[in-house]
Amino acid sequence: TIKKETHSFQTEVKQLLNLMIHSLYSNKEIFLRELISNAADAADKLRFEALNHDNYFGNDSELKIRITTDKEAGTLTIADNGIGMTHDDVMNNLGTIAKSGTAEFLQKLTKEQKSDSNLIGQFGVGFYSAFIVADEVEVRTRHAGAAEEDAVSWVSKGEGEFTTEQINKSDRGTEIILHLKEEETEFLEPWRLRSIIGKYSDHISLPVEMEKMDMGAESEDEKEADEVVVPEFEVVNKATALWTRAKSDVKDEEYQEFYKHISHDFNEPLTWSHNKVEGKQEYTSLLYLPKKAPFDLGNRDKPRGVKLYVQRVFIMDDAEQFLPIYLRMVRGVLDSNDLPLNVSREILQDSATTQSLKSACVKRALGMIEKVAKNQKEDYQVFWDEFGSVLKEGLAEDYANREKVAGLLRFSSTHTDSEKQTVSLADYIERMKPEQDKIYYLVADNYATAKSSPHLEIYRKKGIEVILMTDRIDEWAMGYLNEFDGKKLQAITQGDLDLGGLESEEDKKAVEKATEEKSDLIKKVKDYLGEKVSDVKISARLSESPACVVSNDGGMSLQMARMMKAAGQ
Ligand code: ADP
Ligand code: MG
Repeated sequence: TIKKETHSFQTEVKQLLNLMIHSLYSNKEIFLRELISNAADAADKLRFEALNHDNYFGNDSELKIRITTDKEAGTLTIADNGIGMTHDDVMNNLGTIAKSGTAEFLQKLTKEQKSDSNLIGQFGVGFYSAFIVADEVEVRTRHAGAAEEDAVSWVSKGEGEFTTEQINKSDRGTEIILHLKEEETEFLEPWRLRSIIGKYSDHISLPVEMEKMDMGAESEDEKEADEVVVPEFEVVNKATALWTRAKSDVKDEEYQEFYKHISHDFNEPLTWSHNKVEGKQEYTSLLYLPKKAPFDLGNRDKPRGVKLYVQRVFIMDDAEQFLPIYLRMVRGVLDSNDLPLNVSREILQDSATTQSLKSACVKRALGMIEKVAKNQKEDYQVFWDEFGSVLKEGLAEDYANREKVAGLLRFSSTHTDSEKQTVSLADYIERMKPEQDKIYYLVADNYATAKSSPHLEIYRKKGIEVILMTDRIDEWAMGYLNEFDGKKLQAITQGDLDLGGLESEEDKKAVEKATEEKSDLIKKVKDYLGEKVSDVKISARLSESPACVVSNDGGMSLQMARMMKAAGQ
């Protein structure tokens, strides 16, 4: 038996609670969405786990959520008959935040005194949002398969501590009892609750039930004195899985709410793509692009991928087998009719069905991004600014789609004269000189350095646009992109000056002449620099600066050399 125990919250939880209550207060009704969302997840998990555990459903197989209120006690209860939690689950899920990088992120927010719902929302506020409206939260939960007396209670005032205790619970699942703050009694009103559920939870496939509204047909004194009133319930949401509905049937707001449910993102998505495919392969995919990068986007190992269903049964979150790492910003649902219900991560790994679903998902995802790039230029800029550096990884990671990915890239260039990355390779090609046959680019540590590089002098003089790259991964990523639309890409800091058709005979002659005339000078410089350089040459590259360093064609670039050095190589 586990006796009553008091535990203290992990520091991160305390910080989160503090920040959240302040920053989300104006949007407090979302707590209900979060709790319903969790109940729906719990139902999904039960359906899946029950495939391997015959006893999990027992005689209680109609999964649902019930929302009830008690005006006298001032409580609002959200009850589900989903998977429930064991004592360990409770300890792990309600009291800690497991996400790596959380501590730093919260520290930063706390320091900057930022109470910005967008920032905190990147986080997925989840269960803890209950404390926006409640001064005490009680969780009573019994895991599927556990005995009646092996249930657990968790109680907290959200002030740094919580208690757990072993209890009796007659039915499976989780009950969240909110003791509402005095000023939050509006959440005891059925009409208020129904309107919130309609707004946020129509897309949840699980029925959400509330007590039938008494229209006052029968007044108090008409009732028999000893009549026991058994409350009747009715379903108050649409309760069909959103992705199974016809596109024309789903409102934008529903798509948006569904996104929040599956992504745990607080912001609206940028766009989505919903597709039902029948025939040789049968699946439905609903993919989203977020507007805001999560705080841990840089982490290539963070959970990513789609929520996987097989024939409507939830299989797993973050199924990463269906999207490559560079598309880790894409969220969504994939529902396959071809995979077996008992599929595991290991089986997914080497299944041919997975492979073909993956290429289909990648195609959809890239298609969706291309569409935004083409039709919603401003939105695309938002997307690029958040996720551009991640998308670039695709040049290296996705050989088959390299040209597509390259078409999505945006850069700063000498043409726009701005640090903002807005120029596409197609834009560049459109502006190329008639005699020009290469796309010229320059990689530097930062924009200021790039802009004032002496290497640009000759290009400026001749009015040739040069793409300026300053992202950490540019050098590496560009190593994979030799050509775009049949045009070679040329780093202007590498090799002999090569202006293709743009070089004039005069320039060449001038260089030859100078090389002859200044051979003494060249020799002196070479002697002086010795082993430090492999050659010293006269060049037409510069018009203002006296000299610059150039790397060998095919050799390691200066930028790369610096990166290797920084990495201790
Ligand atoms: P998230 O839903 O993003 O995982 P939450 O803070 O909403 O984060 O919930 C934390 C965890 O608590 C969930 O992942 C789940 O394991 C557990 N949990 C919350 N509510 C329920 C519930 N109604 N039934 C079962 N488990 C739950
Ligand atoms: Mg949640």
